[in-house]
Amino acid sequence: MKIGITSTVPIEIPISTGNCPLDLNNLFISSPNPKFLIQLAESEGLPQNICSWIKGIYAITLHDEVDHVIAVTGGDCSNTIALAEILQRKGKRITPFEYPISGEIQRLKEEFERLIITFHTTWEDVYLTYRSLNEIRSKLMELDRLTYEGNVVSGYENHLFLVSSSDFEGNPKAYEAKVMAFISEVKKRPPFKEEIRLGYVGVPPIFGDIYSVLEDLGARVVFNEVQRQFSLPSFEMPILKAYLSYTYPYGIARRIRDIREQIRLRQIDGIIHYVQNFCYRQLYDILLREELPVAVLTLEGNEPGPLDKRSLVRIEGFLEMLRAQKRAWI
Ligand code: SF4
Repeated sequence: MKIGITSTVPIEIPISTGNCPLDLNNLFISSPNPKFLIQLAESEGLPQNICSWIKGIYAITLHDEVDHVIAVTGGDCSNTIALAEILQRKGKRITPFEYPISGEIQRLKEEFERLIITFHTTWEDVYLTYRSLNEIRSKLMELDRLTYEGNVVSGYENHLFLVSSSDFEGNPKAYEAKVMAFISEVKKRPPFKEEIRLGYVGVPPIFGDIYSVLEDLGARVVFNEVQRQFSLPSFEMPILKAYLSYTYPYGIARRIRDIREQIRLRQIDGIIHYVQNFCYRQLYDILLREELPVAVLTLEGNEPGPLDKRSLVRIEGFLEMLRAQKRAWI
């Protein structure tokens, strides 16, 4: 049975029964023709003014023979609620999962227990699986450190490994081997020496080339906010507390605290805030601008593909401004 997830879930629950789900966002964006999937969804009636990720998830679920979807209906995207109903009407098995907005541990425990019953597993097996997956998570933390301390990992590589940790590419063992091989390879590299260090915050980018464009212009992303959350950075805590320490499902205050900490730790000069067209999370831009201690450039994207000319010009201007600011301090 092919299981899909619409966002990060306590993946140890299905994995403890030998079923590793696939992140439908990753399946969509890495498919040979993601634009075609969006057109397919629109041709089947999904409105144009709905976020492309939702259309991509819809199309990949129906056309890639996904049988069962764990839909994150609380703490992620309000569109997922309606999407799950549509998919259910079209014959897919749907299991909802909610991160409690209140952040109450008891409510989260109840959500875990619903999934445990659905997958016919036990707390003990889930906990053992959690411990084994944490071996991978600690390696991802090392990879992340090699990005901002060792300076031997590009922003794109950091993004790719961390964004894939939502589903371990469907095969945790093979994924772990890939991470280990990558770490030993990059340790032999000379460090990057870019002038500007950036943080990337917001949903993962739909533009394929944003990281390489920034690097060509003398900047490097040393912090990928949401992708880092996918790797469950608090994995050393008991499982419920680790999932309660996620930032993005529980409101903007935790995100701001985390981003501020990482700006200081990683010596970040400026922030790129990526917002998806038609996404409610765009509203948070105003708070991020008010609360973050460095300059913020907000970029908006719609469909998969390269950066548009206007965004490119804005990036060039932003980097020039950061460079001038930096030189004025030296
Ligand atoms: S980008 Fe926004 S609207 Fe689109 S799926 Fe993500 S949270 Fe939902």
